Amino acid sequence: MGAWLVLCVGYVVRMYASPYLVMNSFYMLAILIQYFAFQNPDIFLDRKTGALSHLTATPYLQELNERGPFSAFAIGINDYMESCSLYGERQMTKGLRAITRYLRNTFPDYQVIYATVGRFILLSTKEHSFSDVRAQISARMQAPWVDTHAPLYLTASYAMFQGQLKRREGIDLFFDYSATALHRAEEQHDVIVMEQSLFDQARLNTTVWRAIETNAVEIYFQPLYGTQQRRIIGAEVLARLHDDELGFIRPDIFITIAERSGSITQLGEQVFEKACLFLAEHPLRELGLERLNLNLSPIQCRDSHMAEHLCCIAQRHKVPIHSFRFEITESALSYEQRLQQNMDMLIAQGAVISLDDFGTGYSNLMRVLKFPFEDVKLDMSFVRAYFDQTNKLLPAIIEGFQSFGVQITAEGIENKQMADTLTIFGCRILQGFYFAKPLPMDEFLHYLKTTAPTVRTDTD
Ligand code: C2E
Ligand code: CA
Ligand code: CA
Repeated sequence: MGAWLVLCVGYVVRMYASPYLVMNSFYMLAILIQYFAFQNPDIFLDRKTGALSHLTATPYLQELNERGPFSAFAIGINDYMESCSLYGERQMTKGLRAITRYLRNTFPDYQVIYATVGRFILLSTKEHSFSDVRAQISARMQAPWVDTHAPLYLTASYAMFQGQLKRREGIDLFFDYSATALHRAEEQHDVIVMEQSLFDQARLNTTVWRAIETNAVEIYFQPLYGTQQRRIIGAEVLARLHDDELGFIRPDIFITIAERSGSITQLGEQVFEKACLFLAEHPLRELGLERLNLNLSPIQCRDSHMAEHLCCIAQRHKVPIHSFRFEITESALSYEQRLQQNMDMLIAQGAVISLDDFGTGYSNLMRVLKFPFEDVKLDMSFVRAYFDQTNKLLPAIIEGFQSFGVQITAEGIENKQMADTLTIFGCRILQGFYFAKPLPMDEFLHYLKTTAPTVRTDTD
Protein backbone atom coordinates (compact mmCIF):
# COMPACT_ATOMS: atom_id res chain seq x y z
CA MET A 1 0.00 0.00 0.00
CA GLY A 2 2.79 2.39 1.04
CA ALA A 3 4.62 1.64 -2.22
CA TRP A 4 1.62 2.60 -4.34
CA LEU A 5 1.20 5.87 -2.45
CA VAL A 6 4.86 6.75 -3.07
CA LEU A 7 4.47 5.85 -6.74
CA CYS A 8 1.29 7.89 -7.24
CA VAL A 9 2.66 10.97 -5.51
CA GLY A 10 5.92 10.57 -7.44
CA TYR A 11 4.09 10.30 -10.75
CA VAL A 12 2.00 13.45 -10.12
CA VAL A 13 5.12 15.38 -9.09
CA ARG A 14 6.97 14.20 -12.21
CA MET A 15 4.11 15.20 -14.47
CA TYR A 16 3.55 18.69 -13.10
CA ALA A 17 6.87 19.70 -11.60
CA SER A 18 9.43 18.03 -13.87
CA PRO A 19 11.47 21.22 -14.48
CA TYR A 20 12.15 21.44 -10.74
CA LEU A 21 13.22 17.84 -10.31
CA VAL A 22 16.87 17.13 -9.65
CA MET A 23 16.46 13.39 -10.14
CA ASN A 24 16.05 11.95 -13.60
CA SER A 25 14.23 8.77 -14.46
CA PHE A 26 17.36 6.65 -14.24
CA TYR A 27 17.90 7.42 -10.57
CA MET A 28 14.17 7.08 -9.97
CA LEU A 29 14.33 3.61 -11.45
CA ALA A 30 17.39 2.67 -9.41
CA ILE A 31 15.69 3.82 -6.21
CA LEU A 32 12.47 2.05 -7.12
CA ILE A 33 14.34 -1.19 -7.74
CA GLN A 34 16.00 -0.91 -4.33
CA TYR A 35 12.67 0.02 -2.73
CA PHE A 36 10.71 -2.83 -4.27
CA ALA A 37 13.56 -5.21 -3.59
CA PHE A 38 13.21 -4.31 0.05
CA GLN A 39 9.42 -4.63 -0.05
CA ASN A 40 9.28 -7.78 -2.11
CA PRO A 41 12.69 -9.44 -2.09
CA ASP A 42 11.60 -12.68 -3.76
CA ILE A 43 10.79 -10.99 -7.06
CA PHE A 44 13.72 -8.62 -7.34
CA LEU A 45 16.57 -10.27 -5.56
CA ASP A 46 18.25 -13.50 -6.33
CA ARG A 47 17.36 -15.81 -3.43
CA LYS A 48 20.70 -17.49 -3.26
CA THR A 49 22.96 -14.46 -3.16
CA GLY A 50 20.82 -11.48 -2.21
CA ALA A 51 22.13 -9.64 -5.32
CA LEU A 52 19.79 -8.15 -7.92
CA SER A 53 18.50 -10.96 -10.10
CA HIS A 54 19.44 -10.75 -13.78
CA LEU A 55 15.75 -10.95 -14.77
CA THR A 56 15.00 -7.74 -12.89
CA ALA A 57 18.20 -6.21 -14.16
CA THR A 58 17.15 -6.16 -17.85
CA PRO A 59 14.97 -3.00 -17.60
CA TYR A 60 17.68 -1.45 -15.42
CA LEU A 61 20.28 -2.23 -18.11
CA GLN A 62 18.00 -0.78 -20.77
CA GLU A 63 17.67 2.48 -18.88
CA LEU A 64 21.40 2.59 -18.28
CA ASN A 65 22.09 2.04 -21.98
CA GLU A 66 19.66 4.77 -23.04
CA ARG A 67 21.61 7.25 -20.95
CA GLY A 68 24.85 6.57 -22.78
CA PRO A 69 27.96 4.41 -22.44
CA PHE A 70 28.14 2.18 -19.38
CA SER A 71 30.65 -0.18 -17.80
CA ALA A 72 30.07 -3.83 -17.07
CA PHE A 73 32.45 -6.16 -15.33
CA ALA A 74 31.56 -9.86 -15.37
CA ILE A 75 32.98 -12.32 -12.86
CA GLY A 76 32.49 -16.05 -13.31
CA ILE A 77 33.42 -18.66 -10.71
CA ASN A 78 35.63 -21.22 -12.43
CA ASP A 79 34.45 -24.85 -12.44
CA TYR A 80 31.27 -23.76 -10.69
CA MET A 81 29.43 -27.07 -10.96
CA GLU A 82 32.43 -29.05 -9.74
CA SER A 83 32.85 -26.66 -6.79
CA CYS A 84 29.18 -27.15 -5.89
CA SER A 85 29.58 -30.90 -5.69
CA LEU A 86 32.93 -30.62 -3.93
CA TYR A 87 31.89 -28.12 -1.21
CA GLY A 88 28.17 -28.84 -1.10
CA GLU A 89 25.24 -26.57 -1.93
CA ARG A 90 25.06 -24.90 1.51
CA GLN A 91 28.71 -23.95 1.64
CA MET A 92 28.55 -22.58 -1.92
CA THR A 93 25.46 -20.50 -1.15
CA LYS A 94 27.26 -19.00 1.84
CA GLY A 95 30.21 -18.28 -0.46
CA LEU A 96 28.04 -16.56 -3.07
CA ARG A 97 26.44 -14.41 -0.37
CA ALA A 98 29.89 -13.46 0.92
CA ILE A 99 30.95 -12.49 -2.62
CA THR A 100 27.82 -10.35 -3.05
CA ARG A 101 28.53 -8.54 0.22
CA TYR A 102 32.17 -8.02 -0.73
CA LEU A 103 31.30 -6.65 -4.19
CA ARG A 104 28.67 -4.27 -2.80
CA ASN A 105 30.98 -2.92 -0.13
CA THR A 106 34.09 -2.66 -2.29
CA PHE A 107 32.44 -1.20 -5.41
CA PRO A 108 29.59 1.02 -4.21
CA ASP A 109 29.34 2.70 -7.63
CA TYR A 110 28.29 -0.56 -9.22
CA GLN A 111 24.96 -2.35 -9.20
CA VAL A 112 25.67 -5.99 -8.31
CA ILE A 113 23.72 -8.53 -10.36
CA TYR A 114 23.72 -12.29 -10.00
CA ALA A 115 23.35 -13.95 -13.42
CA THR A 116 23.01 -17.59 -12.21
CA VAL A 117 25.52 -20.47 -12.09
CA GLY A 118 28.27 -18.54 -10.32
CA ARG A 119 28.24 -15.44 -12.52
CA PHE A 120 28.17 -11.85 -11.20
CA ILE A 121 27.85 -8.70 -13.26
CA LEU A 122 28.81 -5.26 -11.98
CA LEU A 123 27.08 -2.41 -13.82
CA SER A 124 27.85 1.27 -13.60
CA THR A 125 27.44 4.50 -15.55
CA LYS A 126 30.89 5.61 -14.48
CA GLU A 127 34.01 4.67 -16.36
CA HIS A 128 36.31 2.54 -14.22
CA SER A 129 39.75 1.13 -14.54
CA PHE A 130 38.97 -2.51 -15.20
CA SER A 131 42.48 -3.62 -14.36
CA ASP A 132 42.08 -2.06 -10.88
CA VAL A 133 38.74 -3.79 -10.35
CA ARG A 134 40.16 -7.07 -11.51
CA ALA A 135 43.31 -6.72 -9.39
CA GLN A 136 41.21 -6.07 -6.28
CA ILE A 137 38.90 -9.02 -6.86
CA SER A 138 41.77 -11.36 -7.77
CA ALA A 139 43.58 -10.37 -4.57
CA ARG A 140 40.46 -11.08 -2.53
CA MET A 141 40.09 -14.45 -4.24
CA GLN A 142 43.35 -15.57 -2.59
CA ALA A 143 41.54 -15.75 0.75
CA PRO A 144 38.69 -18.16 1.56
CA TRP A 145 35.11 -16.89 1.21
CA VAL A 146 33.79 -19.04 4.01
CA ASP A 147 36.23 -19.80 6.77
CA THR A 148 34.92 -22.87 8.55
CA HIS A 149 36.38 -26.36 8.98
CA ALA A 150 36.40 -26.62 5.14
CA PRO A 151 37.49 -23.18 3.91
CA LEU A 152 35.91 -22.24 0.58
CA TYR A 153 38.55 -21.16 -1.93
CA LEU A 154 37.37 -20.13 -5.38
CA THR A 155 38.99 -18.85 -8.56
CA ALA A 156 37.32 -16.68 -11.17
CA SER A 157 37.43 -15.52 -14.79
CA TYR A 158 36.66 -12.03 -15.99
CA ALA A 159 35.05 -10.27 -18.94
CA MET A 160 34.36 -6.59 -19.44
CA PHE A 161 32.32 -4.21 -21.51
CA GLN A 162 32.57 -0.46 -21.93
CA GLY A 163 30.28 1.34 -24.31
CA GLN A 164 26.70 1.56 -25.45
CA LEU A 165 24.68 -1.26 -26.96
CA LYS A 166 23.30 -0.41 -30.39
CA ARG A 167 20.05 -2.27 -30.43
CA ARG A 168 17.30 -3.49 -28.17
CA GLU A 169 18.34 -7.08 -28.93
CA GLY A 170 21.79 -6.37 -27.57
CA ILE A 171 20.19 -5.75 -24.17
CA ASP A 172 18.17 -8.96 -24.19
CA LEU A 173 21.30 -10.84 -25.15
CA PHE A 174 23.65 -9.05 -22.79
CA PHE A 175 23.51 -11.57 -19.96
CA ASP A 176 23.65 -14.53 -22.36
CA TYR A 177 26.57 -12.94 -24.07
CA SER A 178 28.37 -12.28 -20.76
CA ALA A 179 28.01 -16.00 -20.05
CA THR A 180 29.64 -16.87 -23.40
CA ALA A 181 32.40 -14.34 -22.76
CA LEU A 182 33.07 -15.83 -19.30
CA HIS A 183 33.24 -19.34 -20.77
CA ARG A 184 35.77 -18.10 -23.24
CA ALA A 185 37.71 -16.30 -20.50
CA GLU A 186 37.85 -19.51 -18.44
CA GLU A 187 39.03 -21.54 -21.43
CA GLN A 188 41.65 -19.02 -22.51
CA HIS A 189 42.77 -18.03 -18.98
CA ASP A 190 42.48 -14.45 -20.11
CA VAL A 191 40.22 -11.43 -19.67
CA ILE A 192 37.71 -11.13 -22.51
CA VAL A 193 36.66 -7.74 -23.81
CA MET A 194 33.04 -7.84 -25.02
CA GLU A 195 32.95 -5.86 -28.25
CA GLN A 196 30.05 -4.67 -30.37
CA SER A 197 31.03 -7.11 -33.14
CA LEU A 198 30.50 -10.02 -30.76
CA PHE A 199 27.02 -8.73 -29.87
CA ASP A 200 26.27 -8.46 -33.57
CA GLN A 201 27.32 -12.08 -33.96
CA ALA A 202 25.05 -13.09 -31.07
CA ARG A 203 22.18 -11.17 -32.71
CA LEU A 204 22.84 -12.89 -36.04
CA ASN A 205 22.89 -16.33 -34.39
CA THR A 206 19.55 -15.66 -32.69
CA THR A 207 18.01 -14.48 -35.98
CA VAL A 208 19.11 -17.68 -37.73
CA TRP A 209 17.95 -19.98 -34.91
CA ARG A 210 14.60 -18.22 -34.77
CA ALA A 211 14.16 -18.49 -38.56
CA ILE A 212 14.82 -22.23 -38.41
CA GLU A 213 12.50 -22.69 -35.43
CA THR A 214 9.69 -20.87 -37.22
CA ASN A 215 10.39 -22.51 -40.60
CA ALA A 216 10.94 -19.06 -42.13
CA VAL A 217 13.78 -19.94 -44.52
CA GLU A 218 12.66 -19.59 -48.15
CA ILE A 219 13.79 -21.36 -51.28
CA TYR A 220 15.01 -19.86 -54.58
CA PHE A 221 15.65 -21.68 -57.86
CA GLN A 222 18.66 -21.23 -60.15
CA PRO A 223 18.10 -22.72 -63.64
CA LEU A 224 20.45 -25.43 -64.97
CA TYR A 225 21.17 -25.65 -68.70
CA GLY A 226 21.66 -29.09 -70.32
CA THR A 227 24.24 -28.79 -73.11
CA GLN A 228 23.03 -31.95 -74.86
CA GLN A 229 19.30 -31.21 -74.53
CA ARG A 230 20.05 -27.55 -75.36
CA ARG A 231 17.52 -26.25 -72.89
CA ILE A 232 16.90 -25.62 -69.21
CA ILE A 233 16.61 -29.08 -67.67
CA GLY A 234 16.52 -28.38 -63.96
CA ALA A 235 17.29 -25.96 -61.15
CA GLU A 236 19.36 -25.82 -58.00
CA VAL A 237 17.30 -25.11 -54.91
CA LEU A 238 19.06 -22.48 -52.77
CA ALA A 239 18.05 -21.42 -49.27
CA ARG A 240 17.35 -17.74 -48.59
CA LEU A 241 16.89 -15.98 -45.26
CA HIS A 242 15.48 -12.47 -45.00
CA ASP A 243 15.31 -10.55 -41.75
CA ASP A 244 13.36 -7.29 -41.46
CA GLU A 245 16.25 -5.52 -39.79
CA LEU A 246 19.32 -7.29 -41.15
CA GLY A 247 18.01 -7.74 -44.74
CA PHE A 248 19.14 -10.81 -46.69
CA ILE A 249 21.61 -12.92 -44.74
CA ARG A 250 24.11 -14.68 -47.01
CA PRO A 251 23.52 -18.45 -47.23
CA ASP A 252 27.13 -19.33 -46.49
CA ILE A 253 26.81 -17.29 -43.27
CA PHE A 254 23.52 -18.77 -42.02
CA ILE A 255 24.40 -22.30 -43.16
CA THR A 256 27.61 -22.12 -41.09
CA ILE A 257 25.68 -20.86 -38.04
CA ALA A 258 23.15 -23.70 -38.46
CA GLU A 259 25.98 -26.23 -38.83
CA ARG A 260 27.72 -25.02 -35.67
CA SER A 261 24.53 -25.06 -33.62
CA GLY A 262 23.42 -28.49 -34.82
CA SER A 263 20.23 -27.15 -36.45
CA ILE A 264 21.42 -27.79 -40.02
CA THR A 265 19.55 -31.11 -40.24
CA GLN A 266 16.31 -29.33 -39.36
CA LEU A 267 17.07 -26.58 -41.89
CA GLY A 268 18.00 -29.12 -44.58
CA GLU A 269 14.76 -31.00 -44.05
CA GLN A 270 12.74 -27.77 -44.16
CA VAL A 271 14.35 -26.79 -47.48
CA PHE A 272 13.70 -30.27 -48.84
CA GLU A 273 10.08 -30.21 -47.68
CA LYS A 274 9.55 -26.85 -49.40
CA ALA A 275 11.03 -28.28 -52.61
CA CYS A 276 8.61 -31.25 -52.29
CA LEU A 277 5.67 -28.87 -51.77
CA PHE A 278 6.73 -27.02 -54.92
CA LEU A 279 6.91 -30.23 -56.95
CA ALA A 280 3.60 -31.50 -55.56
CA GLU A 281 1.99 -28.39 -57.02
CA HIS A 282 4.15 -28.17 -60.18
CA PRO A 283 5.23 -31.66 -61.31
CA LEU A 284 8.56 -31.80 -63.14
CA ARG A 285 6.99 -32.98 -66.38
CA GLU A 286 4.66 -29.98 -66.49
CA LEU A 287 7.66 -27.71 -65.98
CA GLY A 288 9.65 -29.51 -68.67
CA LEU A 289 12.42 -30.29 -66.18
CA GLU A 290 14.30 -33.49 -65.34
CA ARG A 291 15.34 -32.96 -61.72
CA LEU A 292 15.75 -30.42 -58.94
CA ASN A 293 19.19 -30.17 -57.31
CA LEU A 294 19.33 -29.98 -53.53
CA ASN A 295 22.29 -29.21 -51.27
CA LEU A 296 23.03 -31.51 -48.34
CA SER A 297 25.42 -30.30 -45.67
CA PRO A 298 28.27 -32.66 -44.65
CA ILE A 299 26.97 -32.45 -41.07
CA GLN A 300 23.54 -33.59 -42.27
CA CYS A 301 25.19 -36.53 -44.11
CA ARG A 302 26.72 -37.75 -40.81
CA ASP A 303 23.23 -38.70 -39.64
CA SER A 304 22.68 -42.34 -40.56
CA HIS A 305 18.91 -41.69 -40.79
CA MET A 306 19.23 -38.80 -43.25
CA ALA A 307 18.10 -40.70 -46.35
CA GLU A 308 15.26 -42.34 -44.44
CA HIS A 309 13.97 -38.93 -43.25
CA LEU A 310 14.21 -37.43 -46.73
CA CYS A 311 12.32 -40.39 -48.22
CA CYS A 312 9.57 -40.02 -45.59
CA ILE A 313 9.17 -36.31 -46.37
CA ALA A 314 8.97 -36.99 -50.13
CA GLN A 315 6.47 -39.78 -49.56
CA ARG A 316 4.29 -37.55 -47.39
CA HIS A 317 3.98 -35.12 -50.31
CA LYS A 318 3.69 -37.91 -52.88
CA VAL A 319 6.78 -36.69 -54.70
CA PRO A 320 9.11 -39.40 -56.07
CA ILE A 321 12.63 -39.19 -54.69
CA HIS A 322 13.95 -39.67 -58.23
CA SER A 323 12.90 -36.05 -58.87
CA PHE A 324 16.08 -34.98 -57.08
CA ARG A 325 19.81 -34.72 -57.55
CA PHE A 326 21.49 -34.31 -54.17
CA GLU A 327 24.66 -32.24 -54.03
CA ILE A 328 27.23 -33.03 -51.34
CA THR A 329 30.68 -31.58 -50.80
CA GLU A 330 33.95 -33.43 -50.37
CA SER A 331 34.05 -32.93 -46.60
CA ALA A 332 31.05 -35.28 -46.35
CA LEU A 333 33.30 -38.08 -47.63
CA SER A 334 35.02 -38.30 -44.22
CA TYR A 335 32.02 -40.15 -42.82
CA GLU A 336 32.46 -42.86 -45.41
CA GLN A 337 30.28 -45.61 -44.01
CA ARG A 338 27.24 -43.53 -43.07
CA LEU A 339 27.48 -41.57 -46.30
CA GLN A 340 27.59 -44.79 -48.31
CA GLN A 341 24.48 -46.08 -46.49
CA ASN A 342 22.61 -42.81 -47.15
CA MET A 343 23.71 -42.70 -50.78
CA ASP A 344 22.70 -46.33 -51.38
CA MET A 345 19.20 -45.70 -50.09
CA LEU A 346 18.67 -42.54 -52.16
CA ILE A 347 20.12 -44.12 -55.31
CA ALA A 348 17.98 -47.26 -54.82
CA GLN A 349 14.95 -44.98 -55.06
CA GLY A 350 16.19 -43.37 -58.26
CA ALA A 351 17.86 -40.18 -56.99
CA VAL A 352 21.32 -39.23 -58.21
CA ILE A 353 24.20 -37.77 -56.25
CA SER A 354 26.51 -35.02 -57.34
CA LEU A 355 29.86 -33.98 -55.86
CA ASP A 356 29.65 -30.23 -55.26
CA ASP A 357 32.41 -27.58 -55.18
CA PHE A 358 35.06 -29.77 -56.81
CA GLY A 359 38.40 -28.00 -57.02
CA THR A 360 38.13 -26.01 -53.78
CA GLY A 361 39.81 -28.44 -51.37
CA TYR A 362 42.52 -31.01 -51.76
CA SER A 363 40.51 -32.97 -54.24
CA ASN A 364 41.58 -36.56 -54.62
CA LEU A 365 40.33 -38.03 -57.88
CA MET A 366 40.75 -41.68 -56.87
CA ARG A 367 38.92 -41.19 -53.56
CA VAL A 368 36.06 -39.39 -55.31
CA LEU A 369 35.72 -42.23 -57.82
CA LYS A 370 35.10 -44.71 -54.98
CA PHE A 371 31.64 -43.16 -54.50
CA PRO A 372 28.68 -43.55 -56.85
CA PHE A 373 28.60 -39.94 -58.10
CA GLU A 374 26.73 -39.49 -61.34
CA ASP A 375 28.09 -36.04 -61.70
CA VAL A 376 30.82 -33.70 -60.41
CA LYS A 377 30.20 -29.96 -60.11
CA LEU A 378 33.28 -27.86 -60.79
CA ASP A 379 33.44 -24.97 -58.38
CA MET A 380 33.09 -21.47 -59.71
CA SER A 381 36.58 -20.47 -58.50
CA PHE A 382 38.12 -23.38 -60.41
CA VAL A 383 36.21 -22.48 -63.60
CA ARG A 384 37.19 -18.84 -63.23
CA ALA A 385 40.84 -19.70 -62.71
CA TYR A 386 40.87 -21.30 -66.17
CA PHE A 387 39.39 -18.22 -67.86
CA ASP A 388 41.73 -15.92 -65.90
CA GLN A 389 44.54 -18.13 -67.21
CA THR A 390 45.79 -18.87 -63.71
CA ASN A 391 45.03 -22.59 -63.87
CA LYS A 392 45.09 -24.65 -67.05
CA LEU A 393 44.01 -27.93 -65.48
CA LEU A 394 40.31 -27.63 -66.33
CA PRO A 395 40.15 -29.55 -69.68
CA ALA A 396 42.33 -32.35 -68.30
CA ILE A 397 40.13 -32.74 -65.20
CA ILE A 398 36.95 -32.81 -67.29
CA GLU A 399 38.48 -35.43 -69.57
CA GLY A 400 39.68 -37.46 -66.59
CA PHE A 401 36.21 -37.68 -65.05
CA GLN A 402 34.57 -38.37 -68.37
CA SER A 403 36.87 -41.33 -68.98
CA PHE A 404 35.40 -42.86 -65.79
CA GLY A 405 31.84 -42.13 -66.96
CA VAL A 406 31.31 -39.23 -64.54
CA GLN A 407 29.43 -36.23 -65.97
CA ILE A 408 30.51 -32.64 -65.36
CA THR A 409 28.50 -29.60 -64.30
CA ALA A 410 30.22 -26.22 -64.41
CA GLU A 411 28.99 -23.36 -62.24
CA GLY A 412 29.65 -19.63 -62.26
CA ILE A 413 29.02 -19.24 -66.02
CA GLU A 414 28.71 -15.51 -66.45
CA ASN A 415 29.12 -14.97 -70.20
CA LYS A 416 28.73 -16.54 -73.62
CA GLN A 417 32.42 -17.29 -74.06
CA MET A 418 32.45 -19.38 -70.87
CA ALA A 419 29.26 -21.21 -71.87
CA ASP A 420 30.58 -22.02 -75.36
CA THR A 421 34.04 -23.13 -74.24
CA LEU A 422 32.68 -25.42 -71.51
CA THR A 423 30.14 -26.93 -73.90
CA ILE A 424 32.99 -27.78 -76.29
CA PHE A 425 34.98 -29.29 -73.38
CA GLY A 426 32.03 -31.65 -72.85
CA CYS A 427 30.35 -30.29 -69.68
CA ARG A 428 26.81 -31.70 -69.50
CA ILE A 429 25.21 -29.05 -67.33
CA LEU A 430 25.95 -25.31 -67.03
CA GLN A 431 24.83 -22.99 -64.25
CA GLY A 432 25.44 -19.30 -63.76
CA PHE A 433 24.26 -15.72 -64.03
CA TYR A 434 24.58 -15.94 -67.84
CA PHE A 435 21.43 -18.10 -67.77
CA ALA A 436 19.77 -16.68 -64.67
CA LYS A 437 20.40 -15.71 -61.05
CA PRO A 438 18.64 -17.68 -58.31
CA LEU A 439 14.96 -16.70 -58.58
CA PRO A 440 12.04 -16.75 -56.13
CA MET A 441 9.35 -19.31 -57.02
CA ASP A 442 7.02 -17.01 -58.97
CA GLU A 443 9.84 -15.52 -61.02
CA PHE A 444 11.23 -18.98 -61.70
CA LEU A 445 7.85 -20.18 -63.01
CA HIS A 446 7.63 -17.07 -65.16
CA TYR A 447 11.20 -17.61 -66.40
CA LEU A 448 10.39 -21.19 -67.42
CA LYS A 449 7.45 -19.98 -69.51
CA THR A 450 9.05 -16.96 -71.11
CA THR A 451 12.87 -16.84 -71.11
CA ALA A 452 13.86 -20.51 -70.83
CA PRO A 453 12.56 -21.58 -74.28
CA THR A 454 14.74 -18.90 -75.89
CA VAL A 455 17.97 -19.82 -74.10
CA ARG A 456 20.61 -21.16 -76.50
CA THR A 457 24.39 -21.24 -76.56
CA ASP A 458 26.41 -20.43 -79.69
CA THR A 459 27.34 -24.03 -80.30
CA ASP A 460 23.72 -24.84 -81.26
P1 C2E B 1 26.79 -23.60 -53.91
O1 C2E B 1 26.15 -24.91 -53.63
O2 C2E B 1 28.12 -23.62 -54.58
O3 C2E B 1 25.73 -22.75 -54.75
C1 C2E B 1 26.03 -21.98 -55.83
C2 C2E B 1 26.26 -20.57 -55.40
O4 C2E B 1 26.81 -19.84 -56.48
C3 C2E B 1 24.96 -19.84 -55.08
O5 C2E B 1 25.26 -18.94 -54.04
C4 C2E B 1 24.65 -19.06 -56.34
O6 C2E B 1 23.88 -17.91 -56.14
C5 C2E B 1 26.05 -18.70 -56.78
N1 C2E B 1 26.13 -18.50 -58.21
C6 C2E B 1 25.56 -19.23 -59.18
N2 C2E B 1 25.91 -18.79 -60.40
C7 C2E B 1 26.76 -17.75 -60.21
C8 C2E B 1 27.48 -16.87 -61.10
O7 C2E B 1 27.40 -16.95 -62.32
N3 C2E B 1 28.26 -15.93 -60.53
C9 C2E B 1 28.36 -15.81 -59.18
N4 C2E B 1 29.16 -14.86 -58.70
N5 C2E B 1 27.70 -16.60 -58.31
C10 C2E B 1 26.91 -17.57 -58.83
P2 C2E B 1 24.36 -18.80 -52.75
O8 C2E B 1 22.94 -18.96 -53.12
O9 C2E B 1 24.83 -17.56 -52.09
O10 C2E B 1 24.77 -20.04 -51.89
C11 C2E B 1 26.01 -20.14 -51.29
C12 C2E B 1 26.21 -21.50 -50.71
O11 C2E B 1 25.34 -21.73 -49.61
C13 C2E B 1 25.89 -22.61 -51.69
O12 C2E B 1 26.98 -22.76 -52.57
C14 C2E B 1 25.72 -23.78 -50.74
O13 C2E B 1 26.95 -24.31 -50.36
C15 C2E B 1 25.07 -23.12 -49.55
N6 C2E B 1 23.62 -23.36 -49.58
C16 C2E B 1 22.63 -22.65 -50.18
N7 C2E B 1 21.45 -23.23 -49.94
C17 C2E B 1 21.68 -24.35 -49.19
C18 C2E B 1 20.85 -25.38 -48.61
O14 C2E B 1 19.63 -25.40 -48.77
N8 C2E B 1 21.49 -26.36 -47.87
C19 C2E B 1 22.84 -26.37 -47.72
N9 C2E B 1 23.37 -27.37 -46.99
N10 C2E B 1 23.63 -25.43 -48.24
C20 C2E B 1 23.07 -24.43 -48.98
CA1 CA C 1 25.44 -26.56 -54.63
CA1 CA D 1 30.21 -23.84 -55.45
